[in-house]
Amino acid sequence: MKTIFLIKPRGFCAGVSRAIKTLELTQKLFKQPIYAFNEIVHNKHVVKNFKNKGILFIKKIDNIPNSSTIVFSAHGVSPKIKKIAREKKLNIIDATCPLVNKTHIEAKNFNKLGYKIILIGKKNHEEVEGIMGEAPINLIENLNEIKKLNFKTNKKIACLTQTTLSQDETIKIITALKQKFNNLTLPPKKNICYATQNRQNAVKKLAKLVDIVIVIGSKNSSNSNKLKEIAKKITTTILIDSEKEVSKTILTQYEKIGIASGASAPEYLVKELITKIKKAFPNTQINEIKKNKENITFPLPLEIKKAQSN
Ligand code: SF4
Repeated sequence: MKTIFLIKPRGFCAGVSRAIKTLELTQKLFKQPIYAFNEIVHNKHVVKNFKNKGILFIKKIDNIPNSSTIVFSAHGVSPKIKKIAREKKLNIIDATCPLVNKTHIEAKNFNKLGYKIILIGKKNHEEVEGIMGEAPINLIENLNEIKKLNFKTNKKIACLTQTTLSQDETIKIITALKQKFNNLTLPPKKNICYATQNRQNAVKKLAKLVDIVIVIGSKNSSNSNKLKEIAKKITTTILIDSEKEVSKTILTQYEKIGIASGASAPEYLVKELITKIKKAFPNTQINEIKKNKENITFPLPLEIKKAQSN
């Protein structure tokens, strides 16, 4: 008999919930059309739903008519984008996750204090591009790239990271950096966020219990990809956008099916997958596993609160 192992926490984190709520409320509270700079969160269903409701997603801020309303995504933007937005007198609603913002502030502060800054992250990721705009920053993606850091070892050197990296891989890189730069400074609280840590710990636990892990999330979602990579080291793992990508032939091969979902994947996609499995195999049991409790929420952006009180 098949068993679905459903891991918690899964799905939306506090930053994603806040960004989605912010865009929904912006559409209710402000004059149309509403522009969104980059995908509000990295999930194609979320973005498609907003497009269907009339939100205009753009990647170049220059093309927006002056004085329009624009929402910045959960991944944040560089100061250069903010400057252009101000010059164009755009009505800015900033849905940057507060935990991404924390890394922006740390980059600015370390720079002011004269540190050389190393950022561990993925080239061209929107979060990384935003942080890179705050100060001169040396980006590395992996252990191999440490050799390209040619600073004098007596310099003040700080290391920041993208919020959605693999904890295990990042620890390896930081350990190697500390060997090279023994005065390396890290922020008091690490940049990999609580939601990333909790979902990674949960998927590790899940992968040890099942024959296959199905991670629901979009291919451009950093945290979903990391869940896939982590689970794949333990058992067969696939990353899917929706149940449509899983055939009955695949499901037939596995008795214990683990389901996890990335921080930007809506819960209804998990429900649709469960429905599909139960339809194909009516005796399927469901076993919920809880790893960590999450009760974090972030307040909405001030611009939304002001508009609500008017
Ligand atoms: Fe914020 Fe972490 Fe969610 Fe990214 S994954 S939006 S940093 S809480």
